[in-house]
Amino acid sequence: MLLCCLFSWQLTVLIGQVDLSYYLPENNSYDSRIPTPKSILGHEIGDWHVSHDKLVNYMYAVADASDRVSITEYSRTYENRPLLLLTITAPNNQVRIDEIKANHLKITTPSANEVDIENQPAVVWLGHSVHGNEPSGANSSLVTLYHFAAAQGDAIEKLLNETVILLDPSINPDGLNRFSSWVNSHKGQNLVADPNNLEQNEAWPRGRTNHYWFDLNRDYIPLQLPESVGRIAKIQEWKPNLYTDHHEMGTNSTFFFQPGVPSRVHPLIPKENYSMTEKISGYFQEGMDNINSFYFSKENYDDYYPGRGPTYVDFNGGMAVLFEQASSRGHAQESDNGILKFPFTIRNQHRSAIASVKATHEMRVELLNYQRNYYADALKMASKDPVKAYVFGSDKDLAKSFHLAEIVKRHDIDIYEVKNEINAGGNSYLPESSFIIPMNQSQYRLIHGLFEIRNSFSDSLFYDVSAWTLPLAFNLEFEALDSKLYNKNLLGRAFKDQVFPKGEMVGGKSEYAYVFEVHGYYAHRAINRLLTAGARVKVGSKAFSNSAGKTFSEGSIMVPLSTQDIPLDKIHDIIETIVSHDAIDVYNFKDGGSASGPDLGSGSFTLLEKPEILIMAEGGMSGGDVGEAWHLLDTRFEMSPSLVSMSKFNSINLERYNTIILLDGRYSTITNGAKEKLKTWISKGGLVIASKGGTKWLADSKITNVTFTRPTVPERAVNNYSDYRNINGAQVIGGSIFKAKIDLGHPIAWGFYNKEVPMFKRGILIMNKSKNPFSNPLVYTSNSLWSGYVPEEKLPFIDNSAAVATSSVGRGMVISFTDNLNFRAFWYGTNKLFLNSIFFGKAINPGTAR
Ligand SMILES: [Zn+2]
Repeated sequence: MLLCCLFSWQLTVLIGQVDLSYYLPENNSYDSRIPTPKSILGHEIGDWHVSHDKLVNYMYAVADASDRVSITEYSRTYENRPLLLLTITAPNNQVRIDEIKANHLKITTPSANEVDIENQPAVVWLGHSVHGNEPSGANSSLVTLYHFAAAQGDAIEKLLNETVILLDPSINPDGLNRFSSWVNSHKGQNLVADPNNLEQNEAWPRGRTNHYWFDLNRDYIPLQLPESVGRIAKIQEWKPNLYTDHHEMGTNSTFFFQPGVPSRVHPLIPKENYSMTEKISGYFQEGMDNINSFYFSKENYDDYYPGRGPTYVDFNGGMAVLFEQASSRGHAQESDNGILKFPFTIRNQHRSAIASVKATHEMRVELLNYQRNYYADALKMASKDPVKAYVFGSDKDLAKSFHLAEIVKRHDIDIYEVKNEINAGGNSYLPESSFIIPMNQSQYRLIHGLFEIRNSFSDSLFYDVSAWTLPLAFNLEFEALDSKLYNKNLLGRAFKDQVFPKGEMVGGKSEYAYVFEVHGYYAHRAINRLLTAGARVKVGSKAFSNSAGKTFSEGSIMVPLSTQDIPLDKIHDIIETIVSHDAIDVYNFKDGGSASGPDLGSGSFTLLEKPEILIMAEGGMSGGDVGEAWHLLDTRFEMSPSLVSMSKFNSINLERYNTIILLDGRYSTITNGAKEKLKTWISKGGLVIASKGGTKWLADSKITNVTFTRPTVPERAVNNYSDYRNINGAQVIGGSIFKAKIDLGHPIAWGFYNKEVPMFKRGILIMNKSKNPFSNPLVYTSNSLWSGYVPEEKLPFIDNSAAVATSSVGRGMVISFTDNLNFRAFWYGTNKLFLNSIFFGKAINPGTAR
């Protein structure tokens, strides 16, 4: 039977094409009024990779034709592509969909018992191709929509009466489009299945990620990207009972569905979640067995980091399933299991979607009860928790406090302004700059997940990061309040429609000089506004104060008015913009004298230069690190860095740039000539900012004298060959939070005000301290693990190692970091190290650098 089927599948490959019936379950009749995919796309599913615009056309065409289907646009990508959500259910449910939704949400509240669960539809969310170059999901969504819109008969009508299907056909439109253009434009009339073929090997940065090369399947907690912000709003609006996440993996694999590895489930996810997912997986097994497809289900993948789609839904009272289909990448590819054709991968995804809907329908009452209990238990857990609330905020940085509050709110968590000053843990939290989150609410588990510091783990293998404590990522003061410190009277106005905070113009319009500090997150945007307009701007390396007794700390910005080359009206306008848009307080200095510290004409004020930035991109570079830097400078700081490929770098003149950024990557195609050119450019006064692979390459190239330590791993008694993977995997730092001490007087630290800085570390680049103590202004502490997993034998190597080294080269400067400062767009705390390096790197005294 199996052999015969494999044979017929091979035959299909040789002929090349399949029709719609290949995908659909047998013995169904379909409503001819519903357009088939081919009638809208102009080709059969699987003949070409669908582009996002064609996919959108089909979704709207079916929504127009079917009273079972409604459609909404929930967001737009950076490239302005629509993100769609289709609601598929019985026509009589469509007309009362708001009522169904309201009752569904009631299940998550203390009024859950008012809902008649026996008569309440269950909700299943089908999510496709969050990774754009894993296209079988998005392509299968067209077949799945067709099936549920057009299938006829009592069984489907009963199913749609008792189920609401939410179909998210293409989670990453920009990535999908990048990928489909690549494979379609490299396809021949005769399919080529050679894995070396151009079609199966897309160019950098590939289609996995979104426009700025972010992995959208890591953004469910940080919520920094428009795709996720829109989607999480919908997930919270519906709180689905089952969520599917359709991916692809290596070509030689088969098909994976969860439950995954039992020991690698986050401890805040209830145990029943795993056993119920196991039960649900029976439906996938059946679905795959029906078409003689191979699969596996209890290995490799985990449910730990809620920043990934399935785990996020687990944290919201649902079940979630990850599907991983072996990828044909192009239209066909040779594999260990024969020639893997694109239509075969689409069919597996489609059948799993059908199985997911069937599971939701048949386990409807069980799933709804699970959800009710999940939220009821959360309130019980909250009442037993000694932590009653979290408070966070800083009056030195209104913008950062606001952005963290925004994230919390996006997770459907109730958060409030602080009504009266709270003093806790040595900090005071003021009403205008702090927020408070009571734990006694249904999202208790998620709050816990966002704010907790966790250093003990039941397993030492992690598919992704092991720590993401949000206030640490933001480098914001925060405190867990117990029942002695917390009471309801501390809750001020609910955070709901608050607008971004404004700064203050202190002392009005100036005729002499404006001064502002750089504690605020957007201080460098303010500086950049002035420099871009051609204003003369200086930074002070020493603290000083005004006549009113206000102290301005190191790194304060001074804009003199009598020495400008541009009209003063323009400067006054920019200053107003800074106050209103950048949440920065600007002070009017009426004269040049300081009450203490240097006067404004002092040599301790250094003239700033407008950064002209080159970021090394493409080829061997890490798309993630490069994209994060690009996104930061472009979308938040209104800067326009040039992204330059390595091959271009080898041949160009560097004179038009004054700042070069070398992030993580392999620099193997840089020529010796280009290395010499870079060295000369630095010694003539250039500034280089490097991290991770860039730091390593500069040292290997003898441009800096930075040295490293490679941690040694003690020998271990090995009992069994099969232990290899566990022992080896446990040596990985997938991403944890470490404590570093910062020298607050150093230019890279300007604007920081706490001596300890949380740093994100992934991988194990360990930099030795320099003989010159001034050249390492940021050093890991002697007990550096703050939150997350680290192999115990590696921690001593990180303790007391340098996190940054400054190296003067001729008249230029190289700033080398060991770690990524812009991780996934939510590490707001360390962004300032990166921006300080760009704007103030040239202000570092060469004598202090090694
Ligand atoms: Zn994937």
